[in-house]
Amino acid sequence: MSSIFSKIIAREIPARIVYEDDHMIAFLDINPVNPGHTLVVPKNEQPNVLESSEEDLVQVLRVVRLLAPAIVKAVGADGFNTVTNTGEASGQSVPHTHFHIIPRFLNDGHMPWAHASMSAEALDAVATKIKQAL
Ligand code: AMP
Repeated sequence: MSSIFSKIIAREIPARIVYEDDHMIAFLDINPVNPGHTLVVPKNEQPNVLESSEEDLVQVLRVVRLLAPAIVKAVGADGFNTVTNTGEASGQSVPHTHFHIIPRFLNDGHMPWAHASMSAEALDAVATKIKQAL
C-alpha cells in the first residue's frame, strides 16, 4: 500500500491523529478549510468510495457520527459539511477513500456550490437516464 494516508497509518509520516481503531483512522487535514477539518480514512486502502467495501463505508460513517460532534464542540462550530470526492473532476487529490469533516461557521465565506434552474423536462430526462443506468 502506498498512498500518503497509508504512510500515516504506518507511522511513516506524521499526522495529528484524533481517532484510531482496528479499521479506521482520523487525522487533521494538513491544509484545513476551517480549524478542525478532519479526514476519516479506512485503513484498507482503496482508491475511492466505489472501490471500498460496504463494511468500510459503514465504519466511515460510524466514525463521522462519533467525531463530528466532538469537532464541532472543540472548535465552536455552527455546523459541518461531510464530503467525499471521487475522481479528478471532483477535486480528489489523494487516491485513498476518505471523508472530510469540515466544521462550518455562520458567514465563514465558504459558500456551497451554485445551483442552477433546470426545466421539468430536462430533470425528467436525467432521472430517466439514471434509472436506466442502474
Ligand atoms: P481530496 O482532495 O478530497 O482527495 O482530499 C485530500 C486532502 O488530504 C486534502 O484536503 C489535503 O489537504 C489533505 N492532505 C494531503 N496530505 C496530507 C497529510 N500529509 N496530512 C494531512 N492531510 C493531508
